[in-house]
Amino acid sequence: MRRDPGALAAALADLDARQLRRVRRVAAPRSARGAPQALEFCSNDYLGLARHPGLVSAFVAAAERHGVGSGASHLVTGHSAEHAALEEEVAAFTGRERALCFSTGYMANLGVIDALLERRDLLLEDRLNHASLLDAGRLARATLRRYPHNDSAAAAGALQASVAANALIATDGVFSMDGDLAPLPQLAAAASQYRTWLLVDDAHGLGVLGRTGRGVCEHYQLDAQAVPILIGTFGKAFGTCGAFVAGSADLIEFLLQKSRTYIYTTALPPAVAAATRAALAIAQRESWRRETVLALVQRFRRTAVARGIPLTSSSTPIQPVILGSAARALAVSRGLETRGLLVSAIRPPSVPAGSARLRITFSASHTEQDVDRLVAALADVLEETAAR
Ligand SMILES: *Cc1c(COP(=O)(O)O)cnc(C)c1O
Repeated sequence: MRRDPGALAAALADLDARQLRRVRRVAAPRSARGAPQALEFCSNDYLGLARHPGLVSAFVAAAERHGVGSGASHLVTGHSAEHAALEEEVAAFTGRERALCFSTGYMANLGVIDALLERRDLLLEDRLNHASLLDAGRLARATLRRYPHNDSAAAAGALQASVAANALIATDGVFSMDGDLAPLPQLAAAASQYRTWLLVDDAHGLGVLGRTGRGVCEHYQLDAQAVPILIGTFGKAFGTCGAFVAGSADLIEFLLQKSRTYIYTTALPPAVAAATRAALAIAQRESWRRETVLALVQRFRRTAVARGIPLTSSSTPIQPVILGSAARALAVSRGLETRGLLVSAIRPPSVPAGSARLRITFSASHTEQDVDRLVAALADVLEETAAR
């Protein structure tokens, strides 16, 4: 982008012309008590924990004890007892030797990949990986190769052909815009055959998938040896914010020493760590949350198919309705909004061109009536906007 007068304005006008300008919505207050005005199907709060009174009280109590800010980075004086306990609890929850907390998932992905790869190493990524994994490929000096979505044979082929000394396969566990699962057994087999790292970012599977909510690894019954690097975020099913990487004691100690996005940033507020500990405990104790959200997904799929709404094969709480053009996705999203329903339209570059969509997400705080209302409104709006 040149710094001509008007260049930025022209770029913005171009976004407008292509219906790609994004605007922020100011969210209504969402305390545990006040219900939001519109019924929304956009959040990643799959277990309905973000406003849970148990999280709020843990947060407030810790803020009273520790203050608001952590005051420094982890390696200086920002690492509190709440952070230390959270790391131990995350390690136990994920069945790994140790865990390390990062301030965001974005930073965890950048920091882990950048620390583990060197110049001329090979980084293999699924084309539809989350932007933070792809950006990690830009930051690390390694050679980035993207394989077609979920094509584990292509990933294995690239490993076989590679002369790199060291390689890492990185994949979303559950793809954030599609809701489908990575073929982890095949990727783990390829990683083991070619003695390569496998990193799984399970931001959308943890808390939701698997017999006890331990995510996509539990779903496939893959252990820490098969998936040596597990990334998770706290801002999705656990309802707070922040992220972690879990793995062997050596891996975690190495990252603690070397990961720049861990070292050179202020630690999360201890109160956030405390609220996350509460979330982790509730998620494990109240398995009905996971069962509820998955049952709502099934109800949605059953009733949507009956109304002719086009679905994908996703069986997770992320249910995309792919509409093609940005204009159509926006029109449907707006039509739903006039009926009091919030469903975000996802447009390029968040998804590939021509695959603009509604990204519908479900939460344990939805009811069956909410789902039925969504399906009825969506069927109407799709019909209306198709006729135009
Ligand atoms: C949300 C998300 C992230 C980023 O996590 P933040 O904590 O929000 O920065 C990373 N990876 C995936 C797959 C995600 O969905």
